[in-house]
Amino acid sequence: MSDNKQSILLDVRNLKKFFPIQRGLLRQTVGYVKAVDGVSFFVRDGETLGLVGESGCGKTTTGRTILRAIDATDGEVWFRQGENMINVAELSRRQLKPLRREMQIIFQDPFSSLNPRMTVMDIVSEPLSIHGMAKGKQLKDQVCELLEAVGLKSQHMNRYPYAFSGGQRQRIGIARALALRPRLIVADEPVSALDVSIQAQVINLLEDLQAEFGLTYLFIAHDLSVVEHISDRVAVMYLGAIVELATSTELYKNPLHPYTEALLSAVPKDEPGQTRERILLEGDVPSPSNPPPGCKFHPRCRYVEDICRTAVPEWRELGDDHWVACHRAEELQLRGIQTT
Ligand code: SF4
Repeated sequence: MSDNKQSILLDVRNLKKFFPIQRGLLRQTVGYVKAVDGVSFFVRDGETLGLVGESGCGKTTTGRTILRAIDATDGEVWFRQGENMINVAELSRRQLKPLRREMQIIFQDPFSSLNPRMTVMDIVSEPLSIHGMAKGKQLKDQVCELLEAVGLKSQHMNRYPYAFSGGQRQRIGIARALALRPRLIVADEPVSALDVSIQAQVINLLEDLQAEFGLTYLFIAHDLSVVEHISDRVAVMYLGAIVELATSTELYKNPLHPYTEALLSAVPKDEPGQTRERILLEGDVPSPSNPPPGCKFHPRCRYVEDICRTAVPEWRELGDDHWVACHRAEELQLRGIQTT
């Protein structure tokens, strides 16, 4: 992938995260779960990149490895600091601390991610206190501002998480993530645990905050319907690797990978009662400890040919900023969907 380097905030190169499988009394390593197996992409300053795939495909591990919540097995994570790009993957814990302010996470589950014994004031102010950025009245004023920015009220600050609905709790989590004025936010399935009626409100809020605070999002989701409106570009992940990446409009209208086509067929139509012809993928996602040879998607692909079973498809650009890993991408006429 190539682009104007000035506009890139995050550049992930060949990222790998393998978890050892240990057995026996001596805990010998007998194999590896290849959760992330050579992922590369970049995110431009101020854009939203959607990262989509079924559960177990490695998208959450990718997000956490970028943030150094867990350490990478291999690969590089370049993050812009002024004029320079810094490889986050090789920084020591001490060097990492100032950078942590700039990269924050919003968790999937607003019920378990907030400490039930802390008030809203404690939850939202904690990152500011840890980094010594405010105290006393200034700290309280900043928490008030953050709560208002996410649509809550300052009188909420002395309450505990149990007093709030799921959508409100997610707003508290967002206020906490914003406290240090980050540039990059990894939003890890931020609306999956919420009612459908609340999901749109939280996504709208994230869009408003992006404009207000100049944020860049890596937005992780397990289906394409959630990321449709918020993403500038979308990367589709399968079994530890990205199989397709394009602008949101292009990916939905003109998918080039059979897995993307199947995911798109599950996106509900806008008109109530209307359904699409669903492409049902046969079988389960194979184990990342023993992935199939050749194209990892081949056991579930309805377009499989002999070459797919033995040769790994090359990751290549077909069209403007449209990347895919499929042997048959040029010849297949896949079904996209119209987006509004
Ligand atoms: Fe299907 Fe073959 Fe393309 Fe893999 S390379 S997605 S098996 S057509």
